[in-house]
Amino acid sequence: RMVRNALYTYVPPVPSEDPELLGVSRAALRDIGLKEEEANSEELKQVVAGNKFYWEADGEENKQGKGVYPWAQCYGGFQFGSWAGQLGDGRAISLFESTNPSTGVRYELQLKGAGKTPYSRFADGRAVLRSSIREFVVSEYLNALGIPTTRALSLTLLPKLDVVRERLEPGAIVCRFAQSWLRIGSFDLLRSRGDRENIRKLATYIAEEVFGGWDKLPARLDNVDDENKPKDDTHLDPSRGVSKDDLQGPESHEQNRFARLYREIVRRNAKTVAAWQAYGFMNGVLNTDNTSIFGLSLDFGPFAFMDNFDPSHTPNHDDMMLRYAYRAQPTIIWWNLVRLGESLGELIGAGERVDQETFVEKGVEEDFAPVLIKRAENIIDATGEEYKALFLSEYRRLMTKRLGLKTQKQSDFDNLFSNLLDTMEALELDFNHFFRRLSSVKVADIATEEARQEKAKIFAHSEGTTGLNETEQSLKEKVGAWLESWRERVIEDWGEDASADEEREKAMKSVNPNFVPRGWLLDEVIQKVEKQKDRKVLGAVMEMALNPFIDSWQMDEVLEKRYVGDVPRLKRSVQCSCSS
Ligand code: AMP
Ligand code: MG
Ligand code: MG
Repeated sequence: RMVRNALYTYVPPVPSEDPELLGVSRAALRDIGLKEEEANSEELKQVVAGNKFYWEADGEENKQGKGVYPWAQCYGGFQFGSWAGQLGDGRAISLFESTNPSTGVRYELQLKGAGKTPYSRFADGRAVLRSSIREFVVSEYLNALGIPTTRALSLTLLPKLDVVRERLEPGAIVCRFAQSWLRIGSFDLLRSRGDRENIRKLATYIAEEVFGGWDKLPARLDNVDDENKPKDDTHLDPSRGVSKDDLQGPESHEQNRFARLYREIVRRNAKTVAAWQAYGFMNGVLNTDNTSIFGLSLDFGPFAFMDNFDPSHTPNHDDMMLRYAYRAQPTIIWWNLVRLGESLGELIGAGERVDQETFVEKGVEEDFAPVLIKRAENIIDATGEEYKALFLSEYRRLMTKRLGLKTQKQSDFDNLFSNLLDTMEALELDFNHFFRRLSSVKVADIATEEARQEKAKIFAHSEGTTGLNETEQSLKEKVGAWLESWRERVIEDWGEDASADEEREKAMKSVNPNFVPRGWLLDEVIQKVEKQKDRKVLGAVMEMALNPFIDSWQMDEVLEKRYVGDVPRLKRSVQCSCSS
């Protein structure tokens, strides 16, 4: 449905028959401000199944009532680089916002898979159990790693609902929440309609309501290449969507508050994508409608965590051009952020214009746009420089920690990071296991070349790297050589005293997860829940996902060992299709 002059439609979830609550995240309960016991309450069960929402009709006319009526958002997006037109929450329905009284953080709760919305287009508004399990686990896992993400409170199975995909599959609902579900696509849609008024409204809403006020935003950038700074404010014209209010304090004439808003959104995304890279997370569908204005990891379709390190890997089976491959993520997020800059162009370009005289000279409307555009371009470029710098510094900060170092050196980038990644790629080593296993390596145990070569073997797959002796030799040589440079840096930072090993191991294990919800593992969980009606495995995996850094969870020993162990040989780097 086309909606004009709005970015949402009121729509109720479809009630579910005999919903079975398969799991609730304890961390999520805590973060939204519910007590642990409430996981078992009938009210929670009905709310997360779409059977109860907090609105009561008032009289005959259904139009009015008390409380909050559920709604679905409308947005657009560039998918795989092309404008896809209007999209929207085709199967997500927001129920209400709620503020945790002890943290003051406000979340918007929504149901995914609770039926059609006006934005479902030709689809059914449903989600299958398979993709819902994946979303439930990964949302909470990313959060446990400290990576900004949308969250998942619960997973509900709908036993009476068969969903048609390539086969008939059980349906499910994930109740999820985020500080904001707005995305770059929300602006794309308004821009495509030329709706300047609502772009301004939405941007203002985000600054004031989502980020908590203009004063919470970063200061103006100081690296914008400015040629024509205006002498006064007389060029401002409210009819162009820009008013004097947009210029505040020191940034007056130069950059306005919308440029600062853009900067905040860019900064958040730079940090998030740096964390994805540092932890080997791949979203798989980084379209603009899946890029959060709050810098959250958003929309978990064919996502994956890196198994064997391969920077060209894309987890998305349909991503033939490798647009959304691991190595492309930082560039793609910037590509998306430039689309946002374009949507905000008129607003962020307005802080600086030609001075009054030039403006009068040029006079005509057509000459006005190029000035704004040039100005916006300068700000977007300058913000892009910041994006790059912030991405690199955040990536470096995380990698430094993952490698157990306390200080950063310029040379670490080549000597440690790049060399390690090249080595992992060449030898097809497991990205995550490498860091976890490195955590326990003692400096004294890698003092000689021979010892390092021997130690290198712990990074190999138990089933062999490729199975060739030649590779075992290069594993010893390459990893051995890398361990030498690592050892030097560790000694520089921690000293050679053996007691430092323990402290470093602890520090490293607190940033290098023992558990990673890999593709093969999630597939296995899905099989067990769906086919074998296993009602234990999901709880166990959630325990692991919520506490990924510990050595043991004291649950099922066999399962634990399997899920932190080597990826079965034929299940490495599995891809996923989008049908979910
Ligand atoms: P995604 O690739 O997950 O970002 O989805 C793109 C768009 O398709 C979004 O607007 C979704 O809401 C919509 N969509 C995906 N699957 C369904 C479905 N089963 N029913 C309705 N809409 C869907
Ligand atoms: Mg999406
Ligand atoms: Mg999706």
